[in-house]
Amino acid sequence: MLSNFFKRKRQQSIFTVQQTTAPTTSTSNGHHHHHHRQSVIISGLSASIRELEQLVKLPSQVDEKDWLAQHVLEFYENLFLLIDSMKLNHDCTELNCPSMSGGDCYEYRWFDDESTNVQYHQPTTVSAPLYINLLSEWIDTKLDDPKVFPQQDDKAYPKKFKPTVVKIFSRLFRVFAHIYHRHGSYINNLGISAHINTLFKHFVLFTVEWDLMQKAEYGPCMNVLCKLFGEEYAKKKFQ
Ligand SMILES: [Zn+2]
Repeated sequence: MLSNFFKRKRQQSIFTVQQTTAPTTSTSNGHHHHHHRQSVIISGLSASIRELEQLVKLPSQVDEKDWLAQHVLEFYENLFLLIDSMKLNHDCTELNCPSMSGGDCYEYRWFDDESTNVQYHQPTTVSAPLYINLLSEWIDTKLDDPKVFPQQDDKAYPKKFKPTVVKIFSRLFRVFAHIYHRHGSYINNLGISAHINTLFKHFVLFTVEWDLMQKAEYGPCMNVLCKLFGEEYAKKKFQ
C-alpha cells in the first residue's frame, strides 16, 4: 500500500528531467503536449557511471531534504517493483533462504524496537522473504509517520528524518546484497540483470554522495561493486 506521503509526493514531483524523446499524448481539445515529468531514477540500461554521478547531485533550487525524501521513495518503489516483476518470491523462499544472507559471512537480522512484535525488540534471524516483507512494512510505517516524513508540504522535516533515511538506505542495500548473493543466476536467467545493475549503481552512488552508509556496510557487495564499476573505482569509492 502506498503511504499518503508517497502518493502526495508522486503526484506533485518537483523533479523533472527534460526528455528529448518525451511521449506525446493527445488531449481532449486536440492539442499535443509533452510529458516532461520523469522519475529521478532513470534506471535506463545504458546510463553511464558519469551520468549517474551527475544525477545524484543536488540540483539548484531543490531543498536537500526534499531530494533525500524523493530518493527514498523512488529507490524503494523501483527496487520493490523489480522484486515483484522478477517474481523473486519464486526463488527467494523460506526453504531456499532461511536467513537474510548478504554474502557467505554476512547474515542480516531483523531489529525493530518499535515493533508490536516484541520478538523483534532484539536482533532476530528471519528468513529472507520475511525480512523483505518486514522491511517493506517498516518503510511504509515510516513514510506514514508525520514525526519522520512531514505529511503537509509546508511542514518542516522533523529531527528523526535524517537518521531514519540513513536506516532505510542501509536496509535497502541489504536487499540488493541478498539478491546478488543468493539470486544472481536467477536474475541473469531472467535477462534483467542490466536493470537491477543500473538501479544498484545509482543507489550506491547516491549513498556515497549523501554520506548515508558506513564504508564497512559496502563490504558484502565489494565483489559486485568491483564488477560494476571496475576495481580501481570501486575501491576508491566504497572502501
Ligand atoms: Zn533469497
